[in-house]
Amino acid sequence: MKIIAIGRNYVKHAQELSNEVPKEPVFFLKPETALLQKNKDFYYPEFSQDIHYETEILVKINRIGKYIEPEFAHKYYSEIGIGIDFTARDLQAKQKAKGLPWEIAKAFDHSAPISSFVPLENYGGNIQDIHFSLKKNGEEVQKGHTANMLFTVNEIISYVSKFVSLKIGDIIFTGTPAGVGSVKIGDTLEAFIEEDSFLKFNIR
Ligand code: MG
Repeated sequence: MKIIAIGRNYVKHAQELSNEVPKEPVFFLKPETALLQKNKDFYYPEFSQDIHYETEILVKINRIGKYIEPEFAHKYYSEIGIGIDFTARDLQAKQKAKGLPWEIAKAFDHSAPISSFVPLENYGGNIQDIHFSLKKNGEEVQKGHTANMLFTVNEIISYVSKFVSLKIGDIIFTGTPAGVGSVKIGDTLEAFIEEDSFLKFNIR
């Protein structure tokens, strides 16, 4: 499986990092070794001094597809979850300044903690009407609504599948709203879909 992550998909987040708002979806990949599951601890890596959380709604691909038209994209997923797109912001800033790829800042081991997946139907069936949030040490630090995505999930699937075939079990990180920030050893992160806690783990 692979993880496809969308960048700059919420205007206020693009602005908080002084990035321009994209005209087409921006995506990058994380490998399977980025996954961190079952609320396991995240160990702060030695190569960064500025690890940021980015809370994102996830969709899991359930059919093989290529060149998927937006109007058929909804047939390619039925389950959602929530995850953290951990980013070594200090390394990313250096890569961006040099125009180099982001992998060292985005694709490292355990940079993708994810929840379990549940049917989208449990939350009303409309992927563009899901509220989600993140608490750090019990205090809300990020709050999003999928209605505010720049590119809808179906547009993302259509766009990405022109370049990269989608396979069963692939996971899409759909972008983070404003409010990203750093974590430190000892912090606890807890992510919610609507009012339901889906993911809770400690930084070690
Ligand atoms: Mg992200």
